Amino acid sequence: MINQANTILKSVFGFDQFRESQEAIISNVLHKQNTLAIMPTGGGKSLCYQIPGTVFDGLTIVISPLISLMQDQVRQLNELAIPACVLNSSLSDSDYQNNLDAIKQQQIKLLFLAPETALQSNILDLLTHCDVACIAIDEAHCISEWGHDFRPEYRQLNRLIECFPRAVCIALTATATPRVREDIKRQLNIVDSSEFISSFDRPNLFIGVVPKDNPYLQCKKFVEQHPEQSGIIYCQSRKGVDELTSKLQQDGFSALPYHAGLSSIKRSEYQERFIRDDVNIIVATIAFGMGINKPDVRYVLHYDLPKNIEGYYQQIGRAGRDGLDADCLLLFGYGDTGKIRFFIDQMSNEQEKRLANMHLNQMLALAEAEDCRRSPLLEYFGEKSTKENCANCDNCTGESKEKSDLTVPAQKFLSCVHRTGQRFGSSHIIDVLRGSNAEKVLQNQHNLLSTYNIGNEYNKKQWMTLARQLIQKGLLNQEEQFGGLKLTQKAGDVLKGKVPFFALLQQPVAASSHTSKTL
Ligand code: ADP
Ligand code: ZN
Repeated sequence: MINQANTILKSVFGFDQFRESQEAIISNVLHKQNTLAIMPTGGGKSLCYQIPGTVFDGLTIVISPLISLMQDQVRQLNELAIPACVLNSSLSDSDYQNNLDAIKQQQIKLLFLAPETALQSNILDLLTHCDVACIAIDEAHCISEWGHDFRPEYRQLNRLIECFPRAVCIALTATATPRVREDIKRQLNIVDSSEFISSFDRPNLFIGVVPKDNPYLQCKKFVEQHPEQSGIIYCQSRKGVDELTSKLQQDGFSALPYHAGLSSIKRSEYQERFIRDDVNIIVATIAFGMGINKPDVRYVLHYDLPKNIEGYYQQIGRAGRDGLDADCLLLFGYGDTGKIRFFIDQMSNEQEKRLANMHLNQMLALAEAEDCRRSPLLEYFGEKSTKENCANCDNCTGESKEKSDLTVPAQKFLSCVHRTGQRFGSSHIIDVLRGSNAEKVLQNQHNLLSTYNIGNEYNKKQWMTLARQLIQKGLLNQEEQFGGLKLTQKAGDVLKGKVPFFALLQQPVAASSHTSKTL
């Protein structure tokens, strides 16, 4: 059967060969083995179900969250003369009916459905009368609350799978940490499935981070280094997008905005102009990019700090899809961290709050990394980076930064963790160090400790940075659920003065009222 797949790849899709892991995935699916495929964006996931869907005698159901993506694929498949269609409410009555008829008459190979459509009783009824050979779940991370894009409708999909015990199931995603992977398999009840994980490394992307001190000038300088090239600038808010676009336009740059506040006509017009190279720069919120396949985006600038590594990775991943060099820069300011923490503090659901904090801390580990930035990035996806020096990030190419001897503050912090019983999170430790009269400090009588009020040389933010560096360098372990800190062997060495502690400590910035209560 894999020979048949190879023939289809060449004769129908017009590609010379399978990409790494596509062949193994397709072969596995063709052997009716449940499959979990993890591939970075642009890696070529679609072929992994399109080809089996073409080879199988029966029907392949493809579940996808976005109507526009489904329609795109149906159009492409039809152009290749592969019978595919979609059922959704945006179709006219007659198109809907025609598609239904074609499905009933077994003329369709691939049927694209949103999860909620697939679970409608009339659709389930229709499907159970079909010979369903394969169920493909695209963007499968949507099933997991641990992911960045949870969609409750996805949770119901196990019901769909249960209806078709003879169909093989393939779940695909670009963004799955080990935990999300487990979650996908458990939720879909395909724990027996084989996993195929392609490397997430995109070696052609240069990854850089600079302290955000004069963002507009920094942005201008960066864009000027890429004349006439296509680039995306991500901002946190719509207002930020609009303001930055006008400034850039006033300064003579070819730039257009993109965010959910614009009409859909404007959005598709601007997107189209960017793809056609009619405009160089798109200034956008995270609303921009899903489903856009422009191969020659030469840079991505993050004007504001992303909330998590998944989003960051997806956004920089839109650069350099053609495999040529591309430049990614993050402007990193503590003000942005404060803003994100402020939003997190407003969350009422404790579980969501903890998760958001965890995601932010992982992002900060990358932004504050002193060694290769690819390590925290790849680690996030459960991958070990193979090289100590990737030669394509700012830290590896050695724009050397001064580190300072922080042994004494590190000892104060570690000692305070010890004296409070290794149960508390950074925020509480810092309260004790800075002599706070907070309820929690007094209740626990931590105002009586020798480490109480010995840390006023730093503000709360600086202590937070130090705490994260202590965690990053393995002197502290952070308990996942409540953020409690525990000392490691390494911490013992620093506490005893056997080993010094060197790290970067950013200069204090104007104190913000948005400090976090929980880390
Ligand atoms: P993903 O869904 O993983 O983001 P796609 O399936 O959209 O990626 O594929 C990304 C691009 O790579 C598409 O333009 C696709 O045509 C192309 N592609 C996929 N597989 C191959 C292959 N084996 N050879 C050449 N191009 C491929
Ligand atoms: Zn590196």
